[in-house]
Amino acid sequence: MPDSKPAEQRPDRPALSYPFETVPAPGEVLQVAPGVTWMRMALPMQLNHINLWAIDDGDRWAVVDTGMRTDETLAAWRQLLAKGDDGRRVGRVFATHMHPDHVGMAGWLTRKFDCQLWMTKMEYLNCRVLAADTGREAPADAIRFYRRAGWGDAAIEDYRARFGKFGQFIHALPESYRRIRDGETVRIGDHDWRVIVGTGHSPEHACLHCPDLKLLISGDQVLPRISSNVSVHPTEPEADPLHDWLSSIEKIKAAVPDDVLVLPAHNEPFRGLHARLDHLAQGHHRSLARLLRSLDRPKRVIDVFGALFARAIDPADGSMQLGLASGESIANLNYLMNRGDVRREFDADGVAWFCRIAA
Ligand SMILES: [Zn+2]
Repeated sequence: MPDSKPAEQRPDRPALSYPFETVPAPGEVLQVAPGVTWMRMALPMQLNHINLWAIDDGDRWAVVDTGMRTDETLAAWRQLLAKGDDGRRVGRVFATHMHPDHVGMAGWLTRKFDCQLWMTKMEYLNCRVLAADTGREAPADAIRFYRRAGWGDAAIEDYRARFGKFGQFIHALPESYRRIRDGETVRIGDHDWRVIVGTGHSPEHACLHCPDLKLLISGDQVLPRISSNVSVHPTEPEADPLHDWLSSIEKIKAAVPDDVLVLPAHNEPFRGLHARLDHLAQGHHRSLARLLRSLDRPKRVIDVFGALFARAIDPADGSMQLGLASGESIANLNYLMNRGDVRREFDADGVAWFCRIAA
């Protein structure tokens, strides 16, 4: 759900440049461009931080992304707001997408400052639906989805125990919001920012591009050192998010010039957008080719991890890792199936087996 798999370390990784030598400590800020500051919040997971951005918005600040709802993030926000060196308040809150590390504190901020949340419609509505699932029992559809992937009883049991926690990591969203749309231009302070929507990692992820300042706030849509999670989820088992993701890579490359400074949600600001996008696309196509080669005999979802992931997925790690790996594997398998390279059959237990279609 929240994010990303460990760094891919490939020798052919393009040389990106990282103009900042330090990162801001939680509760501190670092200016990255005139009127644009970088903040960083801790995350209680392997990916241990998220970057947030504050943009000069006249007599207020516009904040982009908010951090996960944790005591640590709350303390960091209080420290930031207490500084108030120029007495400015938060005037609006943007969320690139619905994941808890991005939207977790949005409700808290918008209530505290009585301001609006700016977000795309799919992200806002999906977030409210997921939050409404909090505390519910795992639905039969989700159990069927993971059984189909080949999960055993222990993993299913663990999944049931964990289900319904999404809402614990976010403050309730405001009951209304300001919709932002793909292609829309939003004036923030002295500059125009263009909304560029990508899909695949989340349903309608907003990036913000400022041609004047040559900046791209990329959220999780473009990350320099890790590849974003692209997964099929139990709510839509036949989805093809990898197709959407690869299309979004092309779209962003066409829409945003290469000379921007990219402000990503994880890792550090970097230059080299187009090289990074090319590298991400190539990495996916290589993985797809490896996966296809491995399907010379029928395999279940849980049998293909070795072809896709550098690290071993240990079912004993529990349903969290297994869920991420299964979701990503199904994204790759659905892509190949839609392309007509792979066929799927179900056995008597309802488990899906995937096999290459001989050329
Ligand atoms: Zn995300």
